[in-house]
Amino acid sequence: MTHGKQAGKRCVPVTDAAGRSPAQGVSLFLSGTDSAESIWQTIRAHLRAEYGARTYDSWLKPLALVSVDADTVTLGSPTHFTADWIRSHFAERLRLLWAAQSPAVRHVRIVVENGLRAAAAESAPAPAAVREEPAFGVALEPRYTFDSFVVGKANELAYNAARTVAEGGPIDFNPLFLHGTTGLGKTHLMHAIGWQIRSAMPGAKVVYMSAEKFMVEFVSAMRDKDTLSFKHRLRSADLLMIDDVQFIAGKDSTQEEFFHTMNEIISAGKRLVITADRSPQNLEGIENRILSRLAWGLVADINPADYELRLSILLEKMKRLPGATVGEDVIDFLARKITSNVRELEGALNRIVAYSTLVGKPIDLDFARQVLADVLKAHDRKVTIDEIQRKVADYYAIKLSDLLSARRAREVARPRQVAMFLAKRLTPRSLPDIGRRFGGRDHTTVMHAVKRIEELRADDSELDADITRLTRIIDA
Ligand code: ADP
Ligand code: MG
Repeated sequence: MTHGKQAGKRCVPVTDAAGRSPAQGVSLFLSGTDSAESIWQTIRAHLRAEYGARTYDSWLKPLALVSVDADTVTLGSPTHFTADWIRSHFAERLRLLWAAQSPAVRHVRIVVENGLRAAAAESAPAPAAVREEPAFGVALEPRYTFDSFVVGKANELAYNAARTVAEGGPIDFNPLFLHGTTGLGKTHLMHAIGWQIRSAMPGAKVVYMSAEKFMVEFVSAMRDKDTLSFKHRLRSADLLMIDDVQFIAGKDSTQEEFFHTMNEIISAGKRLVITADRSPQNLEGIENRILSRLAWGLVADINPADYELRLSILLEKMKRLPGATVGEDVIDFLARKITSNVRELEGALNRIVAYSTLVGKPIDLDFARQVLADVLKAHDRKVTIDEIQRKVADYYAIKLSDLLSARRAREVARPRQVAMFLAKRLTPRSLPDIGRRFGGRDHTTVMHAVKRIEELRADDSELDADITRLTRIIDA
């Protein structure tokens, strides 16, 4: 492998980021005079703090800034393998970090920079996780283990099946076929099986690759008239894992090869694990003989995580962000709001933590809403002023008519101010609009209410808790 300490030579080395949170106080929008190189240094320091020295040194450190033009940043990686890995694991992250530093940036491209190869080749030996990497296939992601996989109703069948395959003892099903829509943990479970088999069966040959890579390798072996060594390398695996098999739908010669590979692995008593984004019955464009082979094994689905599972996953992911303080209300908010899949959920958490480090602001509910505005828009339903008024009246056990009346007694005036405050915060309505809906009041009254509640909240923890609870009730 060719990762290394010297590989980033073309950049000014990151000198002092050892585990520290680097970019305190950096503005979201740096001025145009800040050179791309200095932004890159800030991002590098951030990446190191975020992913830890080990991941950073293995994957990210060798990246070098190649060019910045218009809205595209180009980064160079010394080998095809590392470039692939960066693309599939860090691309979105890199894009976000760049965009946060320099809003003009919309794309981050990862290219293979041969110039970096020589520097990388003479570098220090690769870290342990990388040294174990098989000669074929793709390395396993160190973060994807059984320990870091959170089990709930939605995924327990898949999890238990994966553990059985990974224990190394006899199995009474083969292959294991995992399916579920994107971002629900299929790849995570596969890598976990790989790590576990390596420790349960020392010396076992573990091969993991996407079906896409299977096809690319196969096609290039055919072109080079070297399919024999391709076949041999795959079929000598003790555990073969092919991810996202829906990709080879309709690709006939690849399917032919895939079928023979499956057969050989299974009849030799080796383990085979396959994933797809849908069940075998729904895999259109895949040959019947492959499908019936799959049906011989165990088919386990992964369903979307429910609220409890989303919450537990966030708490698990927090362990990897030891520097970050994210309050319970923010975690609860994310778990309620981001329901599509775990990848998005994790992405949202990473994003607020990254932004908070970059701009040096603490993470509270408002900050989270702001940073995730675009993601939330897709999920959000509209909150109305009516609804806020009803729920606030309910909460304080007063009549709705009193809340809207001219009465100035404190037991109705304070809830009214709270309701105005929430209307301002949770709806896009203007101050005059809100005033009108509160018994035809003036916009300055609303403004005063909003300010008053903000001030009171800072010292009055009871009021603060009321507002947090109400926000949760209204914005469920
Ligand atoms: P898929 O392959 O199904 O598209 P991944 O395995 O890539 O999904 O998962 C997406 C992200 O969500 C990964 O970072 C993974 O660690 C995380 N993830 C998914 N499910 C879980 C879980 N049950 N516990 C912990 N992390 C999970
Ligand atoms: Mg996957």
